[in-house]
Amino acid sequence: PEQTPLLRVEALELHYGAVQALKGVSLQVHAGEVVTIIGGNGAGKSTLMKAISGLEPTAAGRIEFLGQDITRMPGHLRVPFGIAQSPEGRQVFADQSVHDNLLLGAYHRKDGAAAIAADVEQQFNTFPRLRERRAQMAGTMSGGEQQMLAIARALMSRPKLLLLDEPSLGLAPLIVKEIFAIVRQLKAQGVTILLVEQMANQALAVADRAYVLETGHFTLQGAAADLRRDPKVRAAYLGAH
Ligand code: ATP
Repeated sequence: PEQTPLLRVEALELHYGAVQALKGVSLQVHAGEVVTIIGGNGAGKSTLMKAISGLEPTAAGRIEFLGQDITRMPGHLRVPFGIAQSPEGRQVFADQSVHDNLLLGAYHRKDGAAAIAADVEQQFNTFPRLRERRAQMAGTMSGGEQQMLAIARALMSRPKLLLLDEPSLGLAPLIVKEIFAIVRQLKAQGVTILLVEQMANQALAVADRAYVLETGHFTLQGAAADLRRDPKVRAAYLGAH
């Protein structure tokens, strides 16, 4: 029998006024998987992430997490429930230190200061640049460092599902490489990740499965390795002709 997926999205629809940004999207993420959603500008990738994290209300369809219907659960309750988003554009608390940003990621935890301090230490092991800069104001860090902080902060909530929205956005190629190495490391640690990316090549290289989103609906889905070889994907998203 098929294992119950960690996340199950069914026929999800979302409107911004007259614009329908999601037109019946269905997807599943199983525990331990890295799943990526690729697609061009305006396809609806960020919108789908916001629907899953509860930042945008949906018009129709259903979102299940751990077998429970969370379609109408407010976003702030989804974090303690196990869904953490590292948002597009990073959105760290600019006038707070790196260390305080990490503590804010653990705001809802009730397992005590020692456990939280141990997790801060673990984030510093994964992101050594953050350890060096623990007292620095987050807003003065480079784009890549802020991206790392945003991911580390999301991990501080001990999520069962990590939503990564365009972690490569606006970063230099070397930093992008570093970010994807970290995604790979998290995957090896067993973190379940839903990754939205415009850098399709990198995303398909790290993911187990992938969905291609075009103007609000999925046009292709499958094993990431297969999509990487798919002529349509290559022509549209991998710069091959
Ligand atoms: P990008 O990679 O460029 O961020 P995306 O795939 O993440 O693209 P979305 O940001 O999800 O795309 O946008 C999907 C569609 O919804 C676009 O047509 C966009 O203009 C529209 N949209 C997004 N946010 C809003 C909003 N707050 N109000 C109105 N329309 C919106």
